[in-house]
Amino acid sequence: MTMQKLDPYLNVDPGTMNPFEHGEVFVTDDGGETDLDLGHYERFIDENLTRRSNATTGSIYQSVIGAERKGVYLGKTVQVIPHITDEIKNRVRQLASDDTDVVITEVGGTVGDIEILPFLEAIRQMRLDAGPENVFYLHVTLVPFIGPSGEQKTKPTQHSVTELRSRGIQPDAIVCRSDEPISDELKRKISRLCDVPVAGVVNAADADSLYEIPIVLHDEGLDRFICDHLRLDVPDADLQQWSALVERVYSTDRRVRIGLIGKYVSLIDAYLSVVEALKHAGIHHGADIDIEWIQAEEVEGLLADRIRDLDGIVIPGGFGERGVEGKIAAAAFARENGIPCLGLCLGLQVMTIEYARNVLGLANANSLEFDPQTPHPVVHLMEDQHDVSEKGGTMRLGAYVAQLASGSKVAESYGEEVVSERHRHRYEFNSKYLNRFDDGDFWASGESPDGRLVEFIELRSHPFWVGTQAHPEFKSRPTRPAPLFDSFIGAALDRLEGRNPQLPTLDTSDTVS
Ligand code: GLN
Repeated sequence: MTMQKLDPYLNVDPGTMNPFEHGEVFVTDDGGETDLDLGHYERFIDENLTRRSNATTGSIYQSVIGAERKGVYLGKTVQVIPHITDEIKNRVRQLASDDTDVVITEVGGTVGDIEILPFLEAIRQMRLDAGPENVFYLHVTLVPFIGPSGEQKTKPTQHSVTELRSRGIQPDAIVCRSDEPISDELKRKISRLCDVPVAGVVNAADADSLYEIPIVLHDEGLDRFICDHLRLDVPDADLQQWSALVERVYSTDRRVRIGLIGKYVSLIDAYLSVVEALKHAGIHHGADIDIEWIQAEEVEGLLADRIRDLDGIVIPGGFGERGVEGKIAAAAFARENGIPCLGLCLGLQVMTIEYARNVLGLANANSLEFDPQTPHPVVHLMEDQHDVSEKGGTMRLGAYVAQLASGSKVAESYGEEVVSERHRHRYEFNSKYLNRFDDGDFWASGESPDGRLVEFIELRSHPFWVGTQAHPEFKSRPTRPAPLFDSFIGAALDRLEGRNPQLPTLDTSDTVS
């Protein structure tokens, strides 16, 4: 099976959107810059998706208008129906391959939005095109709890189902999201009013962990209900591995405090995959992860108190100058105090700048992204990235292989020396400075196979001060944490539990639960 998200907005992809607007941009192996929901899809179905799993109104119009310019429509008037709706159906059908039995397509937005109409029309037509037994409409609604009257309300569900039907779509199942479980009586009411069999009214009440939801839906019988409708002759779902995972999520016996030094910390969705990857590593180590969200611009003022008590520091990816000095200060503090530090993409660049300035004595070293006049551009634009006037899709994107150095921490973490991770950047470590960094401690421990790009850095003398030009968080899965996150959390626990005696251990006793 595979999954897909249709997004009704006009950006061709979310790559150019501010994380404050849209949250993280998720990156697929083939270099698609996609909606963050694709990250959820990959984490839940454990399948790698491609850029084709995300289509926006913008990209659909781009195809149709491109075809129009080429004369593909042979003089016809090009219209939303049928041309846009046909293109939407094409995008869905594109995912049907010989080894795909089921495509789950999520239409983003809310029924009733103006911009969702072509999508609803397209999926309505799918039923006729593919045959009713091959299409299943699952409608997700909210059943709010109204405090003062102490009631759960079915009205929003009724209204959106009415609206959906006015577009010609009768849902086959309704998944009701609610704070608290809804009663059987309420389900019967929804069934009656919305003309859906009771078995098709499914409750997804909020769970403590997102990873419990597949179990909740299974207990509600949704999987069997859908398979019956689609006439899929399949055995019962084997959720053993997943149940074991959920059990581990709920049976952690340690707590580790990780500082995330970011620019977009007021919107935690901006770092969704990083947070999930930390959680995966935490689950693996039996530890809860307490994330301290630290605004990069405030780091300098916080060094003494909040940062000192952290068990580990993550410096995530980012763009633009704001907050960079704070990230550099955090990297320096982590290095000097033996605090495990994981730098992701911009994080590696910031660690490089920090080391150049404070250890190698290269005053005012910087990235050309932040200071075009720096005397020491230790981070510079990649060779093929000289034209930045066009922003969309112009970065080094997607999966690239790296060769790790034998005996390095990164090679030890991965357990192998050739690794593939996803990328999204324009700048890189400036290899002209490589021999200046070769001081016996700093180690460019992973490179592109042609030896031209630095992909991983670490310090020999530090328990864990590791940076990667990639975004390993995108490939982390709940049952298979990204190796660098896994060893980072291992190092943070070592610090917390005082297993780094050779280093100045700060008093962390009050953080041990
Ligand atoms: N801004 C940096 C670059 O373009 C880092 C990008 C990132 O962190 N994803 O190289």
